[in-house]
Formats: sequence, C-alpha cells, structure tokens
Amino acid sequence: MTYQANKSRYDNMIYRSVGKSGLKLPAVSLGLWRNFGDDVPLATQKDLILTAFDLGITHFDIANNYGGGSAERNFGLIFKEELQGYRDELIVSTKAGYGMWDGPYGDGGSRKYLVSSCDASLKRLGLDYVDIFYHHRYDPETPLEETAVALDSLVRSGKAMYIGISNYSADEARNISTIFKALKTPFIINQMKYNMLEREFESTLKAATADEGIGNISFSPLAQGQLTGRYLNGIPKDSRVSRKGALTDEATFEKNLATVRALQKIAELRHQTMAELAIAWQLRDAAVTSVLVGASRVSQLQENVRALDNISFTTEELQAIDKILKE
Ligand code: NDP
Repeated sequence: MTYQANKSRYDNMIYRSVGKSGLKLPAVSLGLWRNFGDDVPLATQKDLILTAFDLGITHFDIANNYGGGSAERNFGLIFKEELQGYRDELIVSTKAGYGMWDGPYGDGGSRKYLVSSCDASLKRLGLDYVDIFYHHRYDPETPLEETAVALDSLVRSGKAMYIGISNYSADEARNISTIFKALKTPFIINQMKYNMLEREFESTLKAATADEGIGNISFSPLAQGQLTGRYLNGIPKDSRVSRKGALTDEATFEKNLATVRALQKIAELRHQTMAELAIAWQLRDAAVTSVLVGASRVSQLQENVRALDNISFTTEELQAIDKILKE
C-alpha cells in the first residue's frame, strides 16, 4: 500500500529558525550515519524514516561517505518509493569533506572534489538538489576561498539550496563566513558535536556562530547512546558498541556511565528518561536549532521526540546538572 503521511505530523513538532535565515528545522532531526547502510535491512530503514516523517521530523541528514555511499542510495530508494510526493516538505542534507574515493581528488575541500562529490551524491539520492550541502570538515591544504566559491557555485547551479559547515573551529567559521557574505551565499548552518559529555561547542564556536547569524545543529547528542539507559546494565548485543566497536576508551566509558547514573536521578524528577533529558537540555539553549539524533529502532525515535514535551529547566536543575557534569 502506498504510504500516506500522518495528517497530524505537524501538530507536536517544534520548528526553529536556522540562524537569521528564513529556513526552519525540526527541533529533532534524524541522521543516517549509522543504521542506514547496506548492513541494515531496507525495511527497517524505511520504517525509521517514515516514522520520523510522521512525527514531524522533516530533516534527514546524510553524507557522501555514510555507509560508503549506501546511506544516500538507500535513502534515495525509500524516497522514490514513498516520499516523492512530499519533496517540498523535506530538508535533505549531504556533505563532502572526508575521503570518498581513491586518489588526490576524493578528499578535502577543493573545487574538483566538492563539485564532483555533490554530483555523485545527487545521483545516489535520486534528487535534483539537496536542501543543505555541507563542507564536512575544514581542509588546511585548500585556500578557504576556493572551498567557499565551490560551495557557492553549487547553490548558483541549483544543486543545493543552502550551505553549511561542519567540524570547523570558531576562527575557521568566521573566516569562511566573511567570504560567503561577500558572495551573498545562503550560508546558514554549522554542524558540530555537542552533548552533555562533550561541551567544547560552548567555549568559542557558539559565540562565533551567533556573531555570524548562522544556526547550529548538534551531532551525536546522545554521545552515540551513552546518554541513554542503553549501557547501564552491560553492553547489549544489538548495540552500537557491539556492532561497531568501542565508543571511547574504557576508563572514559566507565566515567560516563557514572555521570549518566547521577543524571538519571534528575531525569526521574522531571519525569523524563535519560535520553529525553539529554535532548531537552540541549534545546534549552536557543543557539541549538536542532538536535541531530541517530536511531536503530522506531521506539528510540519516539522516545527522543518526547523530549519536546518539556524543554524548560529551572535554574536549580541547570545548576545541579552542571555540578554533575563537572565532577
Ligand atoms: P546519537 O548520539 O543520537 O546516537 C545514536 C545512537 O544512540 C543510536 O544508534 C542508538 O544506538 C542510541 N539511541 C538513540 N536513541 C536512543 C534511545 N532513546 N534510547 C537508547 N538508545 C538510543 O547520534 P549519532 O552519533 O548517531 O549521530 C547522529 C547523526 O549526526 C548522524 O547520523 C549524522 O547524521 C550526524 N553526524 C555528523 C558528524 C559530522 O562529522 N558532521 C559525525 C557524526 C554524526 P544503538 O544503535 O546502540 O541502538
């Protein structure tokens, strides 16, 4: 039977403006880094994507190298079968910046790599354009102006609607923003790692993106599952750690578990799960436009969206959380 999207999909999701742009993103977005490669049945992937859309998650984040290209291809298949009629309700992003193919032109930030990679991504996705195209990481070997002009040309040629950066430092973000301003590029978003256990974003990048008027979307908001109940009673066989290997060294993993046990007491007082607390805590801050979660099953996605039921915190709660996180 042909998929019909849930009619009430827009009723409960929160949509936030991306920096000073006219684009809005759902407060919770879905990333396809893990769980969408050829190692996962397509039916499971379809279930996750359609459930997300039914929950009001309009944004799907991919990259050229996720699953070696298979995540884009699988999203493309699902899009073609089920979501084509909803194209104008979707924000699909992809990226280039890490090694994708052999030789000197399949990595970095050159015009040669970025334009070719975008073309290959569009082919795998089966789309005419992506909504956001990211430079996945800063490339010290390419002049920033070359990278910026190449990204700008993707917009001018209709292959991308907006441009973003990822894994850039505050200074690198400011510098590329200056070039984009001169070019009048629709540069609107920064994608960075940010979660309760890893707060580097708060030191300088947050101020830089605010100054430049761009939004922020956080990746690995649950520290790949550590900021949930997933690992509190051992390492489940179907978990990311079992399937993909350790997320961090053993001592850090143990310390993180102790932190989560302490945080869980606060979550309980707020009638939230640990995952809900971790997501809500990020969204307390208007600097975070969207929290980019991953999910291996539909129930995780449903739980993560439930975080939106309570994203406000008392000063006492925030102080108690800070105290735990600094221990
Ligand atoms: P998360 O921190 O949200 O980790 C997702 C994993 O956590 C899931 O696969 C699942 O693990 C577990 N999980 C999620 N929800 C729950 C829940 N409610 N209860 C229990 N466990 C849960 O994010 P990711 O690290 O997956 O990153 C998200 C996205 O960010 C990526 O898909 C990608 O789009 C982007 N990203 C971007 C990067 C960049 O360089 N720009 C780098 C990394 C990610 P399990 O599989 O064990 O069930």
